[in-house]
Amino acid sequence: MIKILDGKKIAEEMRVELRLEISEMKKEGVVPGLAVILAGKSAASQIYVRNKERACESLGIFSEVHRLDEDVKEAEILALIAKLNADEKIHGILVQLPLPAHLDPQKIISAISPKKDVDCFHPENVGRMFLGEPIFLPCTPAGIMEMLKRYEIEISGKNVVIVGRSNIVGKPLAVMMLKENATVTIAHSKTKNLAVVAKQADILVAAVGRAGLITADMIKQGAVVVDVGINRGEDGKLAGDVDFEKVSEVAGAITPVPGGVGPMTIAMLMKNTVAAAKMFYEIRKYGN
Ligand code: NAP
Repeated sequence: MIKILDGKKIAEEMRVELRLEISEMKKEGVVPGLAVILAGKSAASQIYVRNKERACESLGIFSEVHRLDEDVKEAEILALIAKLNADEKIHGILVQLPLPAHLDPQKIISAISPKKDVDCFHPENVGRMFLGEPIFLPCTPAGIMEMLKRYEIEISGKNVVIVGRSNIVGKPLAVMMLKENATVTIAHSKTKNLAVVAKQADILVAAVGRAGLITADMIKQGAVVVDVGINRGEDGKLAGDVDFEKVSEVAGAITPVPGGVGPMTIAMLMKNTVAAAKMFYEIRKYGN
């Protein structure tokens, strides 16, 4: 029997825990705050930002969204980030990616205070994660690790194959899996014989952005399959990178799209925002 790894359910469990934590913080007069910067009119980005706002509302996290024009000047975004870095109501700052083409995302993300970088994209936080001393972990890979942990899926000693090597999913996930003693392989667009590589996986993670790329013949019997991909078909329906129906006949466990990794990503963002607020107040109380 295939086991469905239900990200919606696990994210709800996390929200229950976070609500408790936030209500304790509020007793001490502490309200976590998140600022989101959204430049341009991308329909997908608008949806993602709306979902993040809703998640904040449902937990009692203060949130504000700064909607900027598509042709916003770099200096304007940098000035806004400087203001938010100094704002005591705001503990997490997130720049929704992708940014309009004329803006350099690395320069803009590097302007966020590392202590408020709840996406964990700032070079300092990326470096800390690689060294095993993180203050935050990037939300999507951390959400995947949290889901596997809560389903008690063993990672140590397992063969993990990650398809996709982006800075936001594939690469950091490889580091986190390594930390949990997996034997990690990263595949990408230049990988030869993807099916052969993928079939070695006890845990296969697909983070590519191509519907149906991962087919049943690529899956070892009983493997755990995590589908990060979000692809919108011509019919408007969402699909992952994995051929869910056919792969379900071979895999031991699988995440659905929607309702798998997506809700976990937002739950981890909320968790990072709460952690950032705690850090802010602890530094204020006890110093650095
Ligand atoms: P990305 O930056 O575009 O990276 C895609 C990766 O896939 C690249 O490493 C690329 O290889 C690799 N790739 C492309 N075609 C391939 C092929 N035919 N075979 C093997 N590898 C191939 O994407 P991303 O930002 O990591 O996102 C990946 C997917 O996850 C997207 O659908 C995105 O929407 C989704 N996503 C979901 C969440 C969530 O919360 N659920 C969060 C983030 C992203 P090269 O490096 O060689 O080009």
